Amino acid sequence: MKFSDFPISALMEITSRPPIVFVRGEGSWLWDHAGKRYLDFVQGWAVNCLGHCPPAIAEVLAEQSRKLITPSPAFYNEPSIGLAERIVRNSVFDHVFFANTGAEANEGAIKLARKWGTLNRGGAYEIITFENSFHGRTLATMSASGKPQFRDLFEPKVPGFPKAVLNDLASVERLVGDRTVAVMLEPVQGEAGVIPATDDFMRALRAFTRERGLLLIVDEVQTGVGRTGRLWGYEHSGVAPDIMSLGKMLGGGVPLAALVATDAVSCFAPGDQGGTYNGNPLMTAVGSAVLDAVTAPGFLASVNALGLRLTQGLSALSAKHGLGEVRGRGLLIAIDLQQDIAGAVVDRARDMGLLLNAPRPNLLRLMPALTVTADEIDTMLGITEEALLAARAAA
Ligand code: PMP
Repeated sequence: MKFSDFPISALMEITSRPPIVFVRGEGSWLWDHAGKRYLDFVQGWAVNCLGHCPPAIAEVLAEQSRKLITPSPAFYNEPSIGLAERIVRNSVFDHVFFANTGAEANEGAIKLARKWGTLNRGGAYEIITFENSFHGRTLATMSASGKPQFRDLFEPKVPGFPKAVLNDLASVERLVGDRTVAVMLEPVQGEAGVIPATDDFMRALRAFTRERGLLLIVDEVQTGVGRTGRLWGYEHSGVAPDIMSLGKMLGGGVPLAALVATDAVSCFAPGDQGGTYNGNPLMTAVGSAVLDAVTAPGFLASVNALGLRLTQGLSALSAKHGLGEVRGRGLLIAIDLQQDIAGAVVDRARDMGLLLNAPRPNLLRLMPALTVTADEIDTMLGITEEALLAARAAA
């Protein structure tokens, strides 16, 4: 089938896509409609932690689909209890509410903080978030986000999200007032271009929020479930947040997200929170398979070793070609090209059979499967170098 044979105009255009249609995936590889193979360092946007179509997920989906798909969130089901227990056992939190997307988990976090403020802080509702942060595309999570392109969209925004500067505690202190209930941040700002909150900042922020009686919310939609080389991104700094949101890799490719909180802040009353698909057995069964894989002995050590190989390879590329900083944690890494050619590099690389992401005009972001192999990393580095040289020559 040719690309022009697909009736693509039936889809609402929400982004510009290259003229290829993906039909199959396996591990780090994708195949398009014409049978061309691509090495995938986007992986569903940092989602497929075990790669494309891993047997562990395919089998659980098939088995669970024959047992029970959706009994309704009005009733308990085994897989959701099992996954909640795994998350609680492996974190500093006590309770889990399942959702379908990261944005929805963050909406839940915002609602929980506001409810807690109503009960404990005289109706305080403001949540301090950060410039360039990304928390989702619902109206409230766009309002919480500090993405500059969101600023004038869909006005009026949901009020109550003053923006501080990442890694600058004084900028947070200046925004705190009677209405403040929480501070919310990504341990590594992903969409902004892989900008880590420093461990010192995380610790200072935790001490400050404790002292002022404010909640600390970590958006771990992109950093959670092993992406940074620890199970949760907050572990690097050793802080214990009050609320965490999860998405993306929790489902390993299927829609699954979670709002996770300590007992002290879990104050939803019946009717405050819900959703038809939340905690459905089909998705939560997959979540348990994912967590079992990521918490298996040696898995995170391997993520760290692969992350080091990727970082060293990119650093060598940077030194050889006069590029800029290589930063990130685990297998969430970015390289600054020092020139606004990242889009062109992505296009060239795709022609050469490699999928990359450019979150900024000068920046490439690598978010491979956590099961990527050392050989695949080396192949990626080789093609990236070629694509870089081609893009530079054309610039
Ligand atoms: N929070 C963060 C940190 C994210 O990176 C994203 C997605 N890129 C979201 C929230 C939103 O998740 P979703 O697209 O599943 O709604």
